Amino acid sequence: MPKTLPFVGFGSMIPKVFLYNTLTKKKEEFHPLHVGEVKMYSCGPTVYDYAHIGNFRSFLVSDLLTRVLRYAGYKVTKVQNITDVGHLTNDGTADAGGEDKIAHKAAQEKVDPFAIARRYEDAFVEDEKLLRILPPEHRPRATEYIAEQIELAQTLIKEGFAYEVNGSVYFRTKKFKNYGKLSGNNIEDLVAGARVEVNDEKKDPMDFALWKKAEVNHLMQWKSPWGMGFPGWHAECSAMSTKLLGLPFDIHTGGEDNIFPHHECEIAQNECSNHGHKSVNYWLHVKHLQVNGEKMSKSKGNFYTIRDLLEKGWKGDEIRYALLNGHYQTALNFTFDSLEMARNSIARIREAYRIFKDRAREAQPDEFSQNSSEKFKTTLCDDLNTADALSVVFELMKQGMRLREEADLSPEQASSIVLFLEKDFDVIFDILKGNEKTISPEKIKEIEQKIKERNEARNNKNWAQADEIRDELLAEGIELVDEKGKTVWKPQ
Ligand SMILES: [Zn+2]
Repeated sequence: MPKTLPFVGFGSMIPKVFLYNTLTKKKEEFHPLHVGEVKMYSCGPTVYDYAHIGNFRSFLVSDLLTRVLRYAGYKVTKVQNITDVGHLTNDGTADAGGEDKIAHKAAQEKVDPFAIARRYEDAFVEDEKLLRILPPEHRPRATEYIAEQIELAQTLIKEGFAYEVNGSVYFRTKKFKNYGKLSGNNIEDLVAGARVEVNDEKKDPMDFALWKKAEVNHLMQWKSPWGMGFPGWHAECSAMSTKLLGLPFDIHTGGEDNIFPHHECEIAQNECSNHGHKSVNYWLHVKHLQVNGEKMSKSKGNFYTIRDLLEKGWKGDEIRYALLNGHYQTALNFTFDSLEMARNSIARIREAYRIFKDRAREAQPDEFSQNSSEKFKTTLCDDLNTADALSVVFELMKQGMRLREEADLSPEQASSIVLFLEKDFDVIFDILKGNEKTISPEKIKEIEQKIKERNEARNNKNWAQADEIRDELLAEGIELVDEKGKTVWKPQ
């Protein structure tokens, strides 16, 4: 006899997700290529310096999108690359010019460019952790996919979309009729607006480099069928996304400054190397971050890295909250007041969580938070509307607190709010718990034993020994506080 499976509810149904697609210039319902699965690629950092908070807004939105899709029920595979070669200093023109950003820094500091790249890659990963950004499934480095980039250039030559000249390979932009479909730029306007790099060896000023010939003293170069050289930045992202996700894939994200030329060129490369097929269904771009109402720039003194803010006493979770508290399609204005507000909001949420948890004790949750949970989910699935989703959270907390003041909040209701905060809210915002170090039960026993010894020393008026024990614990990051005749400890 087959066993009857118990009814498990409708929890496994994936709600509708809507995203603003730069390609179609409208908010669209998201349909994955494979049921229940999402493959996405996010342009990662160019590792020649510390990433600034504007960069991190974009990485946080990519993290938000991943979390919302998983929360909605999708299995998500995310690739976020490390650009450790090929990103040139003049990157706003259709075909970038200038120096390689990493090689430039390496020459300035007189160190190996790979040492520069690894140094800032490590710093980037550390900053990501501080902001509680989940690591991607794959973090490919451009320098480890040189063969794939050469192969892409070869395919494009074979298909008639690229040509070699003097050791460099260029993409024949005008041959791709859809060039401009993402950014809305058309070729004539680009040429007229001088957003092209003039270079005598190219057949047309609009053509862009897939592979560049390296001068003898160029610090980063590889062997290729066209001699020693290095890849173009746009070719890197096409090669890595194709290799790790396959074409087509579902979502590509980046900052709005990536739309042109970077992503426009990626589309051209992908489609022309893949028989004209569409390569990415949804392009999601994050608007610029302003600081104190102005564009962030070093000369204006409003340019901040995560480290700058930590030095000023702010914490990673506060930066996370401040940067997520605004829709990615609007130019968020980052101020110290917004950080202060984030700090207060986090404190309020944590305090409420503690109070509800205390009230709930062992009680089973009832349905008190169910509506909020559904509303929270549909709001986030509606193009990642974090501001409205946070309103849902504060509204529920207010209701709970009001009932508590009226001595009317049941343990079951409190338990339901706790469940919502843990299983809905924090799955996305990830700020419920502070960065306190976790302390093992053995360590706790050891601390308590030392407190006992200290109390004995104090009873025997052996102040030196008592102080010694206190200082010993302090050196391990454990602070002792004597209050109301009792000694309590807390991690620093
Ligand atoms: Zn990219």
